[in-house]
Amino acid sequence: MNVSFVDLKQQYLHIKKEIDAAIASVIDKMALIGGSNNSFVTQFENEFAAYLGIKHVMSCANGTDSLEILLKAFGIGPGDEVIVPALSWISTSESVSNIGATPVFVDVTDHNLLLDPELIEAEITPRTKAIIPVHLYGCMAPMNDIMALAKKHKLYVIEDCAQAHGATYHGKKAGTIGHAASFSFYPGKNLGAFGDAGCMATNDDHIAEKARMIANHGQAGKHNHRMEGRNSRLDGIQAAILSVKLKYLDEGNRQRKQLAKLYHDLLLPATNIQLLSVPENTEHVYHLYVVRFKERKSVQEHLQTRGIQTAIHYPTALPYLEAYQALKRKEYPIAKKACAEILSLPMYPGLSEEEVRYTCTAIHEILK
Ligand SMILES: *Cc1c(COP(=O)(O)O)cnc(C)c1O
Repeated sequence: MNVSFVDLKQQYLHIKKEIDAAIASVIDKMALIGGSNNSFVTQFENEFAAYLGIKHVMSCANGTDSLEILLKAFGIGPGDEVIVPALSWISTSESVSNIGATPVFVDVTDHNLLLDPELIEAEITPRTKAIIPVHLYGCMAPMNDIMALAKKHKLYVIEDCAQAHGATYHGKKAGTIGHAASFSFYPGKNLGAFGDAGCMATNDDHIAEKARMIANHGQAGKHNHRMEGRNSRLDGIQAAILSVKLKYLDEGNRQRKQLAKLYHDLLLPATNIQLLSVPENTEHVYHLYVVRFKERKSVQEHLQTRGIQTAIHYPTALPYLEAYQALKRKEYPIAKKACAEILSLPMYPGLSEEEVRYTCTAIHEILK
């Protein structure tokens, strides 16, 4: 049996009629480029804001731009420091460097690989301006602790929700707890476009207005450039596709949760495997299903011979990347060790229970 890590074609075929009609409609109206006069873009922004239960959603070109634009909108720049977890995709830290500030890494918690709130305070200096918690793999970071620290030290919190569309924490959706939030709609994310796309979300009117201006050449209205900004637009076709796919987000997340539960139940009895824990009052949306093996290489190779695709998110913790050697001043033992052990198993809506069972059987074979 061949088990794909993710299968975007299958998801498309499931809703092909609606997607094709949405794309045709954008082309028919030639509503190609984003902006306040593109009804498809405005419609998606309003729908996603309603889904989150937040006042403003500001679309942009991708989930890296959204982090950069928000950092700028909060007035963060050269000389400032921003706290980021040691384990994430590089966008989280790259966005900080790209606006001239310095990312300050903080190690993660061993049992769930999320930003460890107990280690944050030691890294706060007079230059610290913000924290970017990442809801890694679809599980929300400990926001109560993070918001309390932010309040105490007067820091902004920008949630990186690229992997957590629809996740909740104590009943609140990812992206609605911090001062602002960043989403990616990269095709493989839980809510994915058919190309690059992203958005920002906030309840703050001032930040919303500023972020919108930055993403649109600093314009408050046509040819009214109040400052220099950049070009970071969501295009009409992506917006129309996202409007269709948003309707299926909760169902997709439900399927992911069911598959994760099956993985959990089947893998729990195995030894030499460490399952990640899910904190109480947290709805994990399993963008990725990640487990840890002491002997990861042999497990991954064995699964490969059984036709099962796996991946590693991420093979190197951020501070250990070549890009950060000049910046790295200390060790991040939890993230470092985790990166040698983590393996992402096949996970997507449409993956069958049979495929999960087959994958778990293969894991038990090699661990025996
Ligand atoms: C995917 C991702 C991003 C960046 O999104 P792009 O749309 O690819 O720029 C940022 N942060 C995290 C944690 C991600 O997984």
